[in-house]
Amino acid sequence: MTFSRLSEYFQKLESTASRNAMTEILAELFKESGKNEIGKICYLLLGRVAPLYEAIEFGIADKFIVRAIAQAYNNSIDSVTKAFKKAGDVGTAAESLYRGHDDHLSIEKVYDLLFTITQTSGIGSREKKIRLLAELLSSVGRLSSRYLTRIPLDKLRLGFSDMTILDALSWMLNGNKSARVKLEEAYNVRPDIGYLAKTIKEHGMKGLSHVGVKVGAPILACLCQRLPNADEMIKKMGRVAVEPKYDGVRVQIHYQQTTKTFSRNLENTTDMFPELQNIGKQLNAREVILDSEAIGLDPKTGKLISFQETTTRKRKHDIAETLLKVPLKFFVFDILYKNGESLLSVPFSKRRRILEETIRAGNSLVVSEQIITDSAAALRVYHDKQLKKGLEGAVVKKWDSPYEPGRRGYTWVKFKEEEGKTGKLTDTIDAVVMGYTSGEGKRTAFGIGQVLLGVRRGDDFVTVTKLGSGATEKELGGLFQSLKKLRMKEQPKEYKDVDKVYYPDVWVSPKLVLEIAGDDLTKSKKHGAGYSVRFPRLVRIRPDKSPHEVTTVKEVETLFKQQ
Ligand code: ATP
Repeated sequence: MTFSRLSEYFQKLESTASRNAMTEILAELFKESGKNEIGKICYLLLGRVAPLYEAIEFGIADKFIVRAIAQAYNNSIDSVTKAFKKAGDVGTAAESLYRGHDDHLSIEKVYDLLFTITQTSGIGSREKKIRLLAELLSSVGRLSSRYLTRIPLDKLRLGFSDMTILDALSWMLNGNKSARVKLEEAYNVRPDIGYLAKTIKEHGMKGLSHVGVKVGAPILACLCQRLPNADEMIKKMGRVAVEPKYDGVRVQIHYQQTTKTFSRNLENTTDMFPELQNIGKQLNAREVILDSEAIGLDPKTGKLISFQETTTRKRKHDIAETLLKVPLKFFVFDILYKNGESLLSVPFSKRRRILEETIRAGNSLVVSEQIITDSAAALRVYHDKQLKKGLEGAVVKKWDSPYEPGRRGYTWVKFKEEEGKTGKLTDTIDAVVMGYTSGEGKRTAFGIGQVLLGVRRGDDFVTVTKLGSGATEKELGGLFQSLKKLRMKEQPKEYKDVDKVYYPDVWVSPKLVLEIAGDDLTKSKKHGAGYSVRFPRLVRIRPDKSPHEVTTVKEVETLFKQQ
């Protein structure tokens, strides 16, 4: 297939807001594509050339794209800059200046060249990237120039994620969503949408039986459900392991001679944890995948350090410094793979034994503590003990259950402080910022008055509250800096059923996640979620969560019923 043909699909998708219509267009595209193309097409649709967890980036800023357009279409940098400013979008600018001479480049060729751009580094790499991009731009059609310039800037934004692609793959095979559940199960173990698409294009659904765990490819994290109290936990789960809920950062550790790590939202975080490069000594295994929570330890007091401080590690250049200031411990609570064998379907009771046999005492890795019980009273006592230690609570795990990648089922349940406060919101909500209104009074200085927050419905977002108070000025300032970069000219099409009264001054693309607490949930006709949070307060910004991980409408409903 030519890249021009793919661009026609991009155009159709760009102008479609209905999720079902998008799914059908994608399915049509997948039917038309060859088995060596489909995987690459999946990455390109998401504006990438590899799955998210392969830290492969373009490393290209606006001004370099401007130069590439100028080179390709024989224009001055000034006139391209003007066109860019006028259109407010690089794609439209490229299209308006188009002076290319071919449009027969295949998708594979374009993909390969884009991939080469991501791999270009070192002295002179900037010029080389610009030249490669200019070459590409002059060899594709007018419409293609629109999309080809947006991809390296992460501005393609067609309004869907891997989830809609999974639906579309099912649609390609069966003409409906019947294969979605099975596809998602495979995705949860191997979240590489391109690889999955290629596999089923070649072998149909039976190809999925070969999709398994691979060291170096993250497995989606098992998540916690909520239950209101200890009695219900024991009633529902029977015999359980109870562990402290460490308030740090989730880290999935992959070891095979060297170490790679992944965050909950599938980002490759290897650079953040240099101390994990030496864990071989602590492991009684050739290769292994571990699930852990990293948390800082104050070297003076030996006490655990808060989430906020632990995450200062996120700023990459500070690592060496914070490494000294905040040495991390990795509390390992699960083992998913060892020496060639997936342990996902092995019961936790056995996985835990294997885990204890695998980790040797040392500096970085510590096996999390736990008790095993089937008594609600013992569970409550253990939970209270965690609160006294200053932790968030406990995580309760069904003792005989397999590891459930990507699922928020009743195999893991979190037990937090709010338990039992009837008529109150029993947990915090993670919500994505959809837009903001400009500040008034003191807050004008930060540019933000209120933010509009949404929860997830499939690949779409619906509003659940507005948030103004509860944030410190420092936080608001930081928030504004992050949001400024996400500004959109129009309401993103994945924002559905937004009532006019909530229209913000500025829309932003769905990226930034906030954790909020509130007094309670009330039914709402105006908020798309069907509920709204009363007296919402900011708990913290969650850079470790992707928009796909925010609370869902269904979970909001459950929380409402529990209060
Ligand atoms: P919260 O918002 O309540 O902090 P969350 O939304 O980040 O939680 P949950 O699924 O509700 O995620 O809680 C599970 C998280 O708790 C895990 O992702 C992990 O980071 C953390 N955690 C801390 N201690 C443990 C433990 N012993 N076992 C499993 N997860 C743990």
